[in-house]
Amino acid sequence: MKKCFNARERALAHIQDLHAYVPGEQPQGEGWVKLNTNENPYPPSPNVVDAAGAEVQLLRKYPEPQSIQLRDAIGQRFGFDSSHVIIGNGSDNILDLITRCFVGEPGAGHTVPSYSLYPVVTGMSGQSLSDVEFDRSMRLDVDAIVSTEAKVFFLTNPNAPTGVAFDLSEIESVLKAFDGLLVVDEAYIDFGGSSAVSLLNNYENLIIVRTFSKSYSLAGMRVGFALASPGIIGMLDRVRDAYNLDRVAQATALAAFKDEAYFEEQRQRVIATRERVRQKLDQLGWFTYPSAANFLFTEARTASGASGAAVAESLFDYLKSKKILIRYFPSHPLTCAFIRVSIGTDAEMEVFLTAVESWLKNA
Ligand code: PMP
Repeated sequence: MKKCFNARERALAHIQDLHAYVPGEQPQGEGWVKLNTNENPYPPSPNVVDAAGAEVQLLRKYPEPQSIQLRDAIGQRFGFDSSHVIIGNGSDNILDLITRCFVGEPGAGHTVPSYSLYPVVTGMSGQSLSDVEFDRSMRLDVDAIVSTEAKVFFLTNPNAPTGVAFDLSEIESVLKAFDGLLVVDEAYIDFGGSSAVSLLNNYENLIIVRTFSKSYSLAGMRVGFALASPGIIGMLDRVRDAYNLDRVAQATALAAFKDEAYFEEQRQRVIATRERVRQKLDQLGWFTYPSAANFLFTEARTASGASGAAVAESLFDYLKSKKILIRYFPSHPLTCAFIRVSIGTDAEMEVFLTAVESWLKNA
């Protein structure tokens, strides 16, 4: 007779009801204009190919466990030694390490809206998450953050999905008044906004998390890093998988990081395209938040001026029928009338804008 095992009942209580992270759609066929997951439209540095090839020859051997060359290079660039740096299997991995190390009762906090992984990592640790709700201005409510009394507060700067960047003075006000650990998630900082790196020397309750997925075009490689005091990094290293980064990921991230000229060129191209598209959206009379990221968050309007959740959904569906993928966020009143469009190449953005114009004729 078959032996039964009720996995749901046997799972820990907080896992039974956990909502797993829902990644943006990754269509497998050809011909899509993919503007839904904020990937870089340009390939990584050409040096990445050689670095990957050399490392493949060595796959018989385990990787260096600390990703030490990357820690050194990143530390040096920001004026620290490697004891201030940790490397993650994507920055998602680091957000999870932070939660596992530092979030206990009464839980963590985040702004709403922001990155939808924070509820997942806190949920995986069986912890609760306080919401600090924005209003339509999307400005930071420093007092509300402080009064959560959270062990860890996740702050995305520039924010997602809005693209709005916060002033360093606002972040410093949080650091001064907040007792917990402030995580500044700078996934998009290379496209605009002011980094909080300069605050690290004065505030030990700060950790800055970055990624190679966006500005270095390495989303498929899964590399992120964080900068913080050696004390914080030491704790995170205790819960890190010993070999959390494979050989190819370490070598390719290092090659991309060292190719500063290429990085700068692609970064500027994305920013220039963003500003051009933004102007076009302004000409349509749509409200778009000022973006410091590689995407635009804009309130879709029909030709007769209507907006709202149904309008955003109709545009999403229309674009998808033309094989153009974007995102919309129906679950919250502040986001439901908006679409988020990642910045692609100029040609991809032309396809997007042309499709918007044809939707406007029928909407
Ligand atoms: N933080 C934010 C705000 C993001 O939008 C993303 C990407 N979706 C990440 C972190 C995770 O990036 P990574 O690919 O490094 O895990």
